[in-house]
Amino acid sequence: MTCLPPYGPVPRRTSRAVQVGSVVIGGNAPIVVQSMTNTDTADIEGTVAQAAALARAGSEIVRITVNTAEAAAAVPRIRDRLDAMGVDAPLVGDFHFNGHRLLTQQPACAEALAKLRINPGNVGRGSKRDEQFATMIEFACRYDKPVRIGVNWGSLDPELIARMMDDNGRQAQPEDAAVITRRALVASAIDSAQLAEKLGLARGRILLSCKVSGVQDLIAVYRDLAAQCDYALHLGLTEAGMGSKGIVASTAAMSVLLQEGIGDTIRVSLTPEPGGDRTREVVVAQEILQTMGLRSFTPMVIACPGCGRTTSTFFQELAEDIQTYLRGQMPLWRGRHPGVETMNVAVMGCVVNGPGESKHANIGISLPGSGENPVAPVFVDGAKTVTLKGEHIAEEFQRIVEQYVKEKYPATAA
Ligand code: SF4
Repeated sequence: MTCLPPYGPVPRRTSRAVQVGSVVIGGNAPIVVQSMTNTDTADIEGTVAQAAALARAGSEIVRITVNTAEAAAAVPRIRDRLDAMGVDAPLVGDFHFNGHRLLTQQPACAEALAKLRINPGNVGRGSKRDEQFATMIEFACRYDKPVRIGVNWGSLDPELIARMMDDNGRQAQPEDAAVITRRALVASAIDSAQLAEKLGLARGRILLSCKVSGVQDLIAVYRDLAAQCDYALHLGLTEAGMGSKGIVASTAAMSVLLQEGIGDTIRVSLTPEPGGDRTREVVVAQEILQTMGLRSFTPMVIACPGCGRTTSTFFQELAEDIQTYLRGQMPLWRGRHPGVETMNVAVMGCVVNGPGESKHANIGISLPGSGENPVAPVFVDGAKTVTLKGEHIAEEFQRIVEQYVKEKYPATAA
């Protein structure tokens, strides 16, 4: 008899919970979605607008770069402005090269942030490295801020990798350089975390990440990292790329790890098209978690791909309109109709799979394919309730969805 692997993801790896402002990462907490702005942080208006847009799209934590004195000075003002707008997503400061100096000059920056991200490959060279790293950890301790030790393939500590390559070269049978590089990434993260602990940062105030741009490398690195420590892990494929390539690569890498129970928070690092919407990375991150059944954020639309049986674009338009409508309603529905985020809506193109798929959804509509009677049966909780026809099928279907939400997910008292 063939033994099949168990259905669904394996239980999450045990990690230490880390409190980041109002959000918990790791432990038993749901996997957290986060994102990063691409504005100049010194541009307070632009950064506030984008951070608010990311938070409203569902980013539970927003990271901003802190690269100059002007950016560091802007951080408390950005925090104040977001608070005044009712946007409470914790802000994380991304520090490289001069973080020790910026925090020393602008301690209010550390105070306003909910977490610091430190890249151990970019904190300094030689004897300065440990000293500058220690300065940043001291700030984290003084202001009681958690720290993500964020190692990156593109900025791996050159002294560490050189030492590990030399050691490998002296072996009777040296291993492949790629294996040593992956090992160096993990070692850099864990050694830096242990150093931070020695400097006084509590173990439960540390998260780790080891980002690379290759799918198989990411999987290998995080498997090693997960096996070697119990720090909460931030998952993400760095430099994932643009458009479908970035989405597919991020999804391919992260879904394998999430299925293995690895990952406490995720970020999808998409390169937006010029003028593109930064919030797309939040939507993709949510969709990865929701389609894997790990979390629910917004009602999902199940739509068939269409084929020669669909003679117009009406069915694609209806699927898109319904998805946009559902996502647009979520800021209102989230607090008012608990559970609505688990709802499934099917929009199907013809009678072949339409009724069957519609019956499995909370609400489904089976549109008429070519040559079929121009009517659209609607199914609610598996039973056919009405048949729509005529010019206003889309509006009538939307009303049915609205009514269903009101009845199935009753409004909570204000
Ligand atoms: S449900 Fe109908 S229209 Fe949609 S893909 Fe299947 S056969 Fe084609």
